[in-house]
Amino acid sequence: MRIVLLGAPGSGKGTQAARLVEHYQVVQVSTGDLLRAAVAAGTELGIKAKAAMDEGQLVSDDIVLGMIRERLAQPDTERGFILDGFPRNIAQAEALDEMLADLGRPLQMSILLDVPLEDLMQRLTGRMTCSECGAVFNRYTHPPKTEGVCDKCGGELVQRGDDNEDTVRRRLEVFQEQTAPLVEYYDRDGRLARVDGQRDIEQIAADFREILDPIAPGKS
Ligand code: AMP
Repeated sequence: MRIVLLGAPGSGKGTQAARLVEHYQVVQVSTGDLLRAAVAAGTELGIKAKAAMDEGQLVSDDIVLGMIRERLAQPDTERGFILDGFPRNIAQAEALDEMLADLGRPLQMSILLDVPLEDLMQRLTGRMTCSECGAVFNRYTHPPKTEGVCDKCGGELVQRGDDNEDTVRRRLEVFQEQTAPLVEYYDRDGRLARVDGQRDIEQIAADFREILDPIAPGKS
């Protein structure tokens, strides 16, 4: 299984990817997670990426493509991978197609998790992530049982630095300008599937499985 999860920030890509990883035993590759880890570790790459991330702008294609190339070369991706937050613009999508063609493992599908832009502000500014297990909650739409505490593992819930209102606004603009054209890019040659992201997490997950079962590892 080799797929891209396409969707605006806050559309629920990370939540669905985590479920798919468990269900199909494939890996999730999130450029946002890789970049945040590099920033936290204070690597050279992290230092270069940080300013753009804090502003809600895209990190340069060079940095992101280098990271993806390295990640997809690792053997745990052989059974399948779900790209989450990558590609973010047409140049990245073209580079990905080339990279995968060279590896003889072309992308099978891109799935758009469709959520109206007006819902995303609340989803993003209310988002809280567990610092221990990565589970995602939302102050407004999916609150934890105890404020600030993860239902799953008891870890502390934290808000991402770039989930403040100003940065969110910029990230949504960047999505509209640079990432939204990817819908047409993948639709053009029949590689796009759409899922309505405005429903319950379980219903969305069921739609994903219906689309992905035919290309599940072992079947493709
Ligand atoms: P995310 O967790 O996917 O929302 O990403 C957080 C931030 O990391 C974004 O606002 C960008 O600054 C940066 N980022 C993540 N993925 C990419 C990408 N594919 N290309 C450029 N920047 C990215």
